[in-house]
Amino acid sequence: MRSRERLYRTEAVILRRSDFGEADRMLTLFSAKYGKRRVIAKGARKTTSRRAGHIELFNRVELQLATGRNLDIVTDAQIVDPYKLLHEDLPRLSHAYYIAELVDKLTVDDEDNWPIYKLLIDTFAALNGSAPLDLVARYFELHLLNLVGYRPYLFQCAVCQEDLTEDAERWSPAGGGMLCQRCAAREPHALPIGLPAFKALHYLQREPIDATEELQRLSEPLRREIESVLRATLRPILERDLKSVEFLDAVRLAS
Ligand SMILES: [Zn+2]
Repeated sequence: MRSRERLYRTEAVILRRSDFGEADRMLTLFSAKYGKRRVIAKGARKTTSRRAGHIELFNRVELQLATGRNLDIVTDAQIVDPYKLLHEDLPRLSHAYYIAELVDKLTVDDEDNWPIYKLLIDTFAALNGSAPLDLVARYFELHLLNLVGYRPYLFQCAVCQEDLTEDAERWSPAGGGMLCQRCAAREPHALPIGLPAFKALHYLQREPIDATEELQRLSEPLRREIESVLRATLRPILERDLKSVEFLDAVRLAS
């Protein structure tokens, strides 16, 4: 018999789900109280399982868990938000996969981080709403980088830390941000970035996530510019491309 003390509750978002044994599933959660945690949902693949519908990918759930010998076990699950549209629309779904994979790759197990949880639920809510999906992803990248210790340099030069002025026009992927003109001259791998893209990044770093709706009018080339500097910055941190990026690009090409 488990003692009562070994049961605990937390809210969480399901980042990843895989089969485990005959009828169970392993879930990778990002939880409000304990950060990323892998747990087991017993019997979740049986169609008669009462909990099965609640522990779908990307759902926001309130869970009760029991401490297990290796992995903890889900004993109850209630839906807080199913983010319904994420499951019904391929562009939204491909963005959700990308967000979930980024969180999974950039965080370690069992380290609580409420700001990352808050960012994740705000981002999924935005993807489930009317905000432009690509800009929500950019917002998420900028803020997640900040929360895992790689805040992009948008006010000071990434190399010499001097205050940037509006004549800055190069981005260093390795340095993680903008370069002043002097440092840019010495960095052959720096990427060009125009003032409007630089300003849009500023705006996204400073404002709440709803601000993505106000950037709807940004041109497609400008949005691609922002995307390419952030992707180039994430690549050395992740040490490889994400599987979900291929999915994201394939969905974009098809639409
Ligand atoms: Zn500099």
